[in-house]
Amino acid sequence: MADDKESKGLTVDIQKQVETIRKTLGDLKAILDQLNTARSVAARIINNTDLTLTASFQEHESGDFWPPPPQVIAPRSGGVFGSQSRSGALFTGAVGTVHYEGDGLTAFFDWNNPWAGENSSVTAIHSSTGRYREWTVAGAGNEKAQFEYTVFQIPEEGSWRSCRDCQTLYFDGVADKGSCPARLMERIITGPGGGLKRGPGGGKPIPGSLGHRAEGFEYFLSHSATVGPPPNNNQTAPWCRCTKCFALFYDGSPQKGACPGGGGHSGDRLGYLVPYRNHSQLALRQQDSWRICDACYGLFFEHGPILGRCSSRGDEGHEFDPASHNYALNYR
Ligand SMILES: [Zn+2]
Ligand SMILES: [Zn+2]
Ligand SMILES: [Zn+2]
Repeated sequence: MADDKESKGLTVDIQKQVETIRKTLGDLKAILDQLNTARSVAARIINNTDLTLTASFQEHESGDFWPPPPQVIAPRSGGVFGSQSRSGALFTGAVGTVHYEGDGLTAFFDWNNPWAGENSSVTAIHSSTGRYREWTVAGAGNEKAQFEYTVFQIPEEGSWRSCRDCQTLYFDGVADKGSCPARLMERIITGPGGGLKRGPGGGKPIPGSLGHRAEGFEYFLSHSATVGPPPNNNQTAPWCRCTKCFALFYDGSPQKGACPGGGGHSGDRLGYLVPYRNHSQLALRQQDSWRICDACYGLFFEHGPILGRCSSRGDEGHEFDPASHNYALNYR
């Protein structure tokens, strides 16, 4: 139930933001008044993101712009344009497309008000960061149909950090820093009596006492519970935060890896989406070389000759399949 509530709350927030932008654009009357051919469309593009969108391509299969789409749409604002069949041309419609680019995002807006048949519109987005979603409404009618395209940014959670000892991604947003396999291993190796004897507590890790230690950037993840399934085919779910060790781990398999907090990892209620590299360039603040460990199912930063410390492989580093996804995390 909590998930439901949260999800609705966020949707309402986004709807409010979109409504605010829509108001700044006014109604489409000024455009509608100028459209006077047999098939016409007045359209709004609402950019409810922090990106500046720049038009990169526009084309009519049939018809002409009046007025043309704006060259640039500023963050959290919108733009309007009209499209109409050529005057005097019979049996043709208003059919076209306009593309916009922003950092880590390409958006394709298509419209079709055909001579015969129903109106339709399609928005497709490619987003290397996995941060964006869209919705589209095609109005009915032959003359002066109103279309609306919305691109919006999904909520994200910060406080995700890379552990300098085990190189796994873990949640650093609370005082307790979970359990780090590298530091537990250190304690076992260097415990009282030396050698490979187990440390204080009879070798049992004391939860929270040997937590992860942050280094580098703060990373941001979105919840699948609040934004729904990934639309872009460049995100995987479900990833979960382990309630015992605080690492992010892949929770989509019956095996849960070995948790440094004891037993297997155990997922929190929220699922997360993690973007991976497709063919697109990395966005400005995006870092790749994050890998899933085949042994502990954690997400770890692959750098240097030693691949961190793995809770499932003793004092060895994580292991991964080089053919597996190259995950790319968003940071600020
Ligand atoms: Zn650690
Ligand atoms: Zn765990
Ligand atoms: Zn591992």
